[in-house]
Amino acid sequence: MRVCGFCNGPGVNQEHVWPDWLRKVILESRAAGGMKHFHAEIERGGETKKFKSPKLEMKVGMPFESCNHGWMSGLENQVKTFMTQMVYRGDKTLLDPERQTHLMRWILKTAMVYEFTSAAAQRKYFSDAERLAFKERFEIPQNLWIWVARYDGVRPMHSVQHRAPKSSDSPPRIYSLTLSANFLTVQVFAFRESEGDLGQVARATKPERLLQLFPASPDWMSWPPPITIDDEALDVLDTRFVKVLGGSVPRRVEI
Ligand SMILES: [Zn+2]
Repeated sequence: MRVCGFCNGPGVNQEHVWPDWLRKVILESRAAGGMKHFHAEIERGGETKKFKSPKLEMKVGMPFESCNHGWMSGLENQVKTFMTQMVYRGDKTLLDPERQTHLMRWILKTAMVYEFTSAAAQRKYFSDAERLAFKERFEIPQNLWIWVARYDGVRPMHSVQHRAPKSSDSPPRIYSLTLSANFLTVQVFAFRESEGDLGQVARATKPERLLQLFPASPDWMSWPPPITIDDEALDVLDTRFVKVLGGSVPRRVEI
């Protein structure tokens, strides 16, 4: 029997990677702009499937039903109000330290769930112990960065995950995920100690387009950053770690 990826409890379910409330916000915003159907592209097992989707649906086979209605829905409720404002029209949003913490946790939770969209045989970057420690105490894995940006372009939902090196013998040691939900783009980057100080790559990030959400500063933060990224800049963002660290082209999902 399959068990939950966070608490090891029973309960297998097909869940949406993107929570329903967030899909609704994006659909309403795009519908207001006259958009009714979306071209979706999903890569499964090396094969890219294209289809038209009116609902922006993308499901994940990760079994986490027992957690979904508990701490995870708690996280959704903590971010829903201010994230809606960011996602719907990309309006200026003040992030106090509490909001920063909630948003950072929501993004990390989404990344951990996102890893389960690929085949079960593929090794995950985040370990069982890290997922459990996050669920129990919101403990953050080492060597992790999160940024937030504002994007204005044709893609209502977009995601690219990169894990390296790809090997069936050992888990990946480098991880990056870029996610866009309408006007809000987030990026996660993490690496294992054995890889040396890859933090220098993260620390070199310029703040014009990307605000650093984690490691956090004690100050209030005003989102968005000065420069909004367009489609071309989003492509650059997707691959910035791949280019620096080497590796194959990451899986890309456009919805
Ligand atoms: Zn669970």
